[in-house]
Amino acid sequence: MRPPILTPLFAGVSTLAGVGPKVAETLGRLLGAPEGSEPRVVDLLFHLPAAMIDRRNQPGIARAPEGGIVTLKVRVDRHQPSPRGKGRIPYRVFVHDDTGELALVYFHANREWLQRTLPVGKTVYVSGEVAWFNGRAQIVHPDHVLAENELGSLPLVEPVYPMTAGLARKTLLKATDTALAVLPLLPEWAPAVRLAENGWPGFSEALRRAHHPDQPADLEPISVPRQRLAYDEILADQLALALTRAHMRRGAGLVRRGDGRIVAGVRAALPFALTRSQEAAVADILGDLGKPQRMLRLLQGDVGSGKTVVAMLAMARAVESGSQAALMAPTELLARQHAETLRPIAEAAGLSLAILTGRERASERKRILADLAGESGDEALPGIEARRGIDILVGTHALFQEGIVFRDLALAVVDEQHRFGVQQRLALAAKGGATDVLVMTATPIPRSLVLATFGDMDVSQLREKPAGRRPVDTRAIPLDRIDEVIERIASAIAKDGKVFWVCPLVEESEETPLTDAESRAAALKKVLGRPVGLVHGRMKAADKDREMERFRSGEISVLVATTVIEVGVDVPDATIMVIEHAERFGLAQLHQLRGRIGRGDKPASCLLLYATPLGPTAKRRIEILRETDDGFRIAEEDLKLRGEGEILGTRQAGTPGYRLANLAVHQPQLEAAHRDARAAVAENADLKGDRGEALRILLYLFGRDAAVRLLRAG
Ligand code: ADP
Ligand code: MG
Repeated sequence: MRPPILTPLFAGVSTLAGVGPKVAETLGRLLGAPEGSEPRVVDLLFHLPAAMIDRRNQPGIARAPEGGIVTLKVRVDRHQPSPRGKGRIPYRVFVHDDTGELALVYFHANREWLQRTLPVGKTVYVSGEVAWFNGRAQIVHPDHVLAENELGSLPLVEPVYPMTAGLARKTLLKATDTALAVLPLLPEWAPAVRLAENGWPGFSEALRRAHHPDQPADLEPISVPRQRLAYDEILADQLALALTRAHMRRGAGLVRRGDGRIVAGVRAALPFALTRSQEAAVADILGDLGKPQRMLRLLQGDVGSGKTVVAMLAMARAVESGSQAALMAPTELLARQHAETLRPIAEAAGLSLAILTGRERASERKRILADLAGESGDEALPGIEARRGIDILVGTHALFQEGIVFRDLALAVVDEQHRFGVQQRLALAAKGGATDVLVMTATPIPRSLVLATFGDMDVSQLREKPAGRRPVDTRAIPLDRIDEVIERIASAIAKDGKVFWVCPLVEESEETPLTDAESRAAALKKVLGRPVGLVHGRMKAADKDREMERFRSGEISVLVATTVIEVGVDVPDATIMVIEHAERFGLAQLHQLRGRIGRGDKPASCLLLYATPLGPTAKRRIEILRETDDGFRIAEEDLKLRGEGEILGTRQAGTPGYRLANLAVHQPQLEAAHRDARAAVAENADLKGDRGEALRILLYLFGRDAAVRLLRAG
């Protein structure tokens, strides 16, 4: 149960005085609340200002800078109402001070209000943005007009928030201030030394200060209050990860050993020798499996570094020890591809492998589930072999849904983990049992992000590429030279080459001039005079698979695709990758795409077609890509260019990322939070007592309360 002290923060925003259903709806749009649900007060409080308006500048009319916000003490001289019937001409009020003259300009003016507020001869304060027009100063719709004795009520510094259409600035300001008023004083969860060494205020105080900047420096992510808030958010995350880890380790793992026959069988079925780093990773994993603790290992390896066979050897050991293994992929296409590549190896080694994606017919699914649970093991009749259960199950996240029961799951391999996110990882952990977990990630996440996303996992890295890989020749070409590219493709396919042509994803609703995959495929077909394949996200999985297969088998030599091919798709003899509108793609994504080619023994090239003019970030991305194919370096550069959310793919996956922290900046806070979370769990794994209670509040506050359920279960 959520601690009662948080109740006002988790109530809907319409519980705030002055926020009605209509404002609540616009706030929902602003704060990204799920369709049909109202944002909560806490969401509003975590929406921090991006800028501020400083009204302290009182330069006098003559010295008011163009476009600057100023406050001026002026005397009203005369009114010039819009001429009758010409409402489009504004109403002007002329005022002056010792230094000069100024016009206050009102469109669609409320005459009565103007005459009441600005009577001729009166001295008032006006505050707003000054514009100079033919040597005359004016303020269009001043933000504030105050009588001489009301100056005290002028907000000298106003925060400016990222906005959405249909929301008035003042409405948001008021709602936020009301929210701050209901913000309770929360018990301190951070260690006292941490506060002392950084001079940090308490959480509530920090939040208040973050909403009321006094200087532009207060808006910086490294300002004292924002450091504190970032630390808190990361601490919640790190604490959840530390608790997950403690929970997973608590149920002692089982020792998984075998006689080595199946592992040897898998090795014998491979047409190549493992690289040194693959061997090292296999040794790490088999070592973990043989230990009485649960394994929690991350296998990091660049695209094409050969993670799959490492996973296969690990799964072979699990089966050898008498248990089962599962491999979970982020998409159906990938699950099928894994099943296809692994099946011959599995068969050669005498393993039974099945696939489950949630799309099977009911009867088939039933049979798979029965085989999986080992219920179908009909008594062996003389002369008839009993049906074996399933040794290895490959699938999508459907694998870990309720109702799927393994006879004895020893090892869960999760491919491309960053697509799943923390919540799924917690769900997996909450499954309990003694299942060892191997997470594979194709984006070589920098160390700092390993810590943030995966917490304390053991890490094996595949840093070499399998022998025989050649570097891909990477070129950037402006889109207006597309004809040359097409000629090049034509000559490549005449020599039996295969070409990937990637188009950016276009939302159906979005009206952009981008070529979408469908029209590009049609155009290529016309100029090349031969069939062109097409895969995009809106196609049915079966159609996608069929199209991929036609490409793989060589029936077609050009495949136009959206980024559905990004992750893992394997067509070793593809030699050209064209990426249209390369400026639209992220660095990690471009790197992943390029990794689809250069897998065979022929030279390969990647052609980045870009629209001009190229922005500085897009330019930098293309440069980096041309400089290196070291995924670890690319990931670091990507972090610098784009911030952590994009790298982790949290945005696509829709999992909650950070709202207050930015890992590109808050590295010291990450390290502090990591240390503090570990210490807290080491001392007080059940989160008991006052400090424990404070930490539970923290977990709920940042939506990491799934970890609290682990406490109770454990
Ligand atoms: P990823 O790490 O991207 O998942 P894969 O496991 O799909 O990479 O491997 C990419 C390709 O490299 C596959 O075709 C695989 O058979 C091949 N491969 C893997 N290891 C080796 C090796 N040691 N030597 C040669 N080819 C290998
Ligand atoms: Mg892979």
